[in-house]
Amino acid sequence: MMATPSPSPVGRLAPSPTGDLHLGHARSFLIAWWHARSRGGRIVLRLEDLDGERAAPKYLDGVRRDLTWLGLDWDGPAYVQSTGLRRLVEKAHELAASGNAYACVCSRKEVQNALSAPHAHEHGPPYPRTCAGKYPNLEAAELQTGKPAGLRFRSPDVVVEFADEICGSFTEHLAQTAGDFLILRRDKLPAYQLAVVVDDAEQGVTEVVRGDDLLASTPRQIALGRALGYRQPSYFHVPLVLDAEGKRLAKREHSLSLARLRELGADPRSVVVWALASCGFAVDERVTAADGCNIFSMERLKREPVIVTENSLTSLVLRRSTD
Ligand code: GLU
Repeated sequence: MMATPSPSPVGRLAPSPTGDLHLGHARSFLIAWWHARSRGGRIVLRLEDLDGERAAPKYLDGVRRDLTWLGLDWDGPAYVQSTGLRRLVEKAHELAASGNAYACVCSRKEVQNALSAPHAHEHGPPYPRTCAGKYPNLEAAELQTGKPAGLRFRSPDVVVEFADEICGSFTEHLAQTAGDFLILRRDKLPAYQLAVVVDDAEQGVTEVVRGDDLLASTPRQIALGRALGYRQPSYFHVPLVLDAEGKRLAKREHSLSLARLRELGADPRSVVVWALASCGFAVDERVTAADGCNIFSMERLKREPVIVTENSLTSLVLRRSTD
């Protein structure tokens, strides 16, 4: 009997257009791209612009320009997340209709005040379920209270367990840690946790390769995916790039942005060589992102965080396009 073929890989690049992409993004995106492309996989580009206050239209173009400069491509047009807003909101309501979410009128401040002792957990204290079971739906909650309401996912009272392909096994009792979390904000925008799960599933993503700062969000995303009946993608959380003080790179650090490197005349192949070296693959000639597909292997990826110093930057810039 023939084995069922595994689906062909679909990876994704999911930048938030809230600032210039920097070397940390370049590295994570190259890894995601190499992993999918070296196995004949597809790549989806999704611009996660739901954070209305920060996502600026100029960065939508900037992100595409930076990725193209690096030598990355994607299949089909770039997907701008806000264009699918209605579908995401519908999904939040679907979860409420199936009893997996409930209307909540608590403001962030009220949630804080309702909790006597702050917990030292990374999610903050779990929501005390003040609104759980109180309102039949979101509209009723607003009518009854005169306050804007959002929808909160009812975290299952079970341990969510999964094996990250890089970080190993991870367990979390969501109801006790993250607690019930917002999937539709009170301003009616879908929350990141919901948007990423729905879009990954609807875009057929089979592997999520991203920075390990998002590892802590993964159990929430898995629980949401299960409640929506989605197939679970595989997860690869890659070590972040840190600065000389051990802090993760931030988008405001213009000196480390790809736009700045480009302005200074850096050769994108130097960034590729730097990224390969940071993953444990030393090459002594300049190679393109596409060449990297024959060099990179996820199995042999170095698992330590990567530090960028002034020296590594200087050498990236010094290796100019014309050298
Ligand atoms: N858009 C998110 C960010 O730039 C990444 C989301 C994800 O990879 O799941 O931080």
